Amino acid sequence: MAVPQIIEAFAHRMMYSIAKDRHTATDFDVYQGLAFAVRDRLMERWFKTQSTYYLQDAKRVYYLSLEFLMGRALLNNVLNLGAEDSYLQAMRELGFKLEDIGEQEWDAGLGNGGLGRLAACILDAAATLELPFYGYGIRYEYGIFQQRILDGQQVEYPDGWLRYGNPWEIQRPDAIFPVRFYGHTRGSFDATGRYHVDWLDTQDVWAMAYDTPVAGFRNGTVNTLRLWSAKSSREFDLAHFNSGEYVRAVEDKTHSENISKVLYPADDQSAGKELRLKQQYFFVSATLQDVVRRFKKRPSWRWEELPDKVAIQMNDTHPALVVPELMRVLLDQEGLEWDLAWSLTQQVCAYTNHTILPEAMEVWPMDLWRNLLPRHVEIVEEIDRRFRLAVRARYPFDDAKLQRLAIVDHGHSVRMANLAIVGSHSVNGVAQLHTDILKASTFAEMNELFPGRINNKTNGITPRRWLLKSNPDLAALVSEAIGDRWTKDLDALRGLEPFATDAAFQERWTRVKRRNKERLADWGRRTQEFALDPAFLFDVQVKRIHEYKRQLLNLLHVATLWNRLRDGVDGGVPRAVLIGGKAAPAYWAAKQIIHLANAMARAIGEDPAAKGRLSLAFLPNYRVSLAEVVFPATELSEQISTAGTEASGTGNMKAALNGALTIGTLDGANVEIREEVGDPNIFIFGHTAEGIVRLRDAGYKPRDWAMAHPELRRAIDTIGNLEGGRFRALAWALMDSDHYFHCADYASYLETQERVSATYQKPAEWARMSILNVAGMGKFSIDRTVSEYARDIWNAHAVPVEGPPPEPSMQPALRL
Ligand SMILES: *Cc1c(COP(=O)(O)O)cnc(C)c1O
Repeated sequence: MAVPQIIEAFAHRMMYSIAKDRHTATDFDVYQGLAFAVRDRLMERWFKTQSTYYLQDAKRVYYLSLEFLMGRALLNNVLNLGAEDSYLQAMRELGFKLEDIGEQEWDAGLGNGGLGRLAACILDAAATLELPFYGYGIRYEYGIFQQRILDGQQVEYPDGWLRYGNPWEIQRPDAIFPVRFYGHTRGSFDATGRYHVDWLDTQDVWAMAYDTPVAGFRNGTVNTLRLWSAKSSREFDLAHFNSGEYVRAVEDKTHSENISKVLYPADDQSAGKELRLKQQYFFVSATLQDVVRRFKKRPSWRWEELPDKVAIQMNDTHPALVVPELMRVLLDQEGLEWDLAWSLTQQVCAYTNHTILPEAMEVWPMDLWRNLLPRHVEIVEEIDRRFRLAVRARYPFDDAKLQRLAIVDHGHSVRMANLAIVGSHSVNGVAQLHTDILKASTFAEMNELFPGRINNKTNGITPRRWLLKSNPDLAALVSEAIGDRWTKDLDALRGLEPFATDAAFQERWTRVKRRNKERLADWGRRTQEFALDPAFLFDVQVKRIHEYKRQLLNLLHVATLWNRLRDGVDGGVPRAVLIGGKAAPAYWAAKQIIHLANAMARAIGEDPAAKGRLSLAFLPNYRVSLAEVVFPATELSEQISTAGTEASGTGNMKAALNGALTIGTLDGANVEIREEVGDPNIFIFGHTAEGIVRLRDAGYKPRDWAMAHPELRRAIDTIGNLEGGRFRALAWALMDSDHYFHCADYASYLETQERVSATYQKPAEWARMSILNVAGMGKFSIDRTVSEYARDIWNAHAVPVEGPPPEPSMQPALRL
């Protein structure tokens, strides 16, 4: 792409789409004009990609997720187009800085945290690997809330991300499907003597598609993220208008459009609300109609080939309604027999488990279903009945086991995980330890019943966004050393190993980190959100706030360092501890932790004893675009969850890929990070997952652990006495219940932090370890993860898009 053409395309869009000139265009206008110009380039490749899939009759993969935490698109798309230099130059000639234009974009925050960001990284990899792949979800009008800190506390503001328009999405008014709710069923025998069920008197909502292009990295592939928006069926219901109920009709319209209004903001927690169930069925039903439409568009199709042409991956149990819904479509609409329908469903569906926390396991009251989805209740009851027969045949006298395995729990609730496992051919965990726990404990009985079904797919991250785009200086240094093959094959980073002991390279490496720290400090100053001294060790914990992630353990360490400074003892290096993350609005303890972090940050900031030695900052409104500034500046990555609670983590990978050293427990993917970077190059502490189980089984008494460690007792007191004792309940809970074993891991954490300080005082040693961490990150490319899904679960293959993208023309219509 040549610079003059880019300038011309941009100018064209500014005039005809944005309707602004040089004198009237705001910074945001410039962003939108450029976004449209970039989108035009994607569009050509998009057409070509979709017709290639159609003409080659490729097997399609459908990734169903209630969350896609995409972040910003502009610079990522420019990068994936392989046209970064030309766009930089074009904008420079017009007097703009590409990076500044990029900052005008509002994050697409249609997700809570790791689960939604994984979906976004998987989209990037699937397009880069040239897989015929579609993301399906909901186009929420409001994404994850904006977090502000007022008087030290989290306040939530609605995220009206679509307010000024979204240049990346294409509305598809013709891709619209009815989704039915409520009503009742009626069974009857048809003329051939076959039993048939009708679902009658339903209330319908329409799902309209909005498509976002997903570009592969430097290839011709552009895949689709299709998000559904709810539109009232009343608009089409003339009878209503004729009966004079005009205002009622418009009110009802608003009511049904509420389905796609807002993302539920609870991470790792099931809300159990009717609206949430409606969201789930809404996007599952619309997606399946689209999938079946595309399947049947092929000449001379047969149902038997469905598994050869369609793979459906469920991101957690949120889309598990796909199992009874596919059964309903095949049985009631297509007239298939149960056994064939069930076999096809199992062959098509696969389920990814993301958590073993009991409060996150989705269980829906049967009564809610009976009202909203009466036909699905019948189908799930029949799936459950047949499954129980199979279990009883295998374990004839074990009623307790039957109760534990059942999908319908005593006729009153549906266990979504059990439904997803029984209805799938694959159930995967997201890190080896997590999968081992699923097999050995959470789903042990299912594993015995279905050997081989549970498998592991360790998470990854896209090295394009999380290194090439977010950390251009480090990316350039790496490419200078080993070439740029790593962008498509992250294992190539191993080539950095010989540089780890090269003093000149170490020095350049450290200078890059220093610049990134300054960039973050500038960002904090500019936004007036926090103050940082780039000379300090940047010790970072950014992720959702949750008790199991143990931000409190981090704060206990900060309190200990502070107490030592007040005693005039100073063993360590100057540290800037940074904590960021959102709390679910109804999660009291998490909100208390945020309040505490802010209160401590203020008190430490005001204490002369801490000056120049210790600072604590809370980073407000942690989101993808902020993560892209934070990880390049991170030196110490806090991955300190209680062993056995974090399924994988991906923040751990982002930090390490940007040269941070990890202090962490043997939890989630930390275990595999240690294997890859080597035990001497990571700071591991605390009890293992097995050790935690043993502690719990032996009747864990946190008070005894606290009493045995004077500095821990004092740190708890420090927290309890802050601001007139407002955090006393939080602090004392550590002594009484300590559900997540802070007290048991404190001593080991403290010792390990002392080793961190000592290592940081040897800059060459720190740089060597940092380089070796990046060298060991190859495994954690999302490309590796998605290749494994494609090979082991989807049986899907690359379909390269060849030849030049087409020019605009009115070709014969292909609705793809
Ligand atoms: C990566 C990421 C997460 C997940 O972080 P974990 O440390 O794995 O919990 C959450 N939020 C955002 C914005 C992210 O980029």
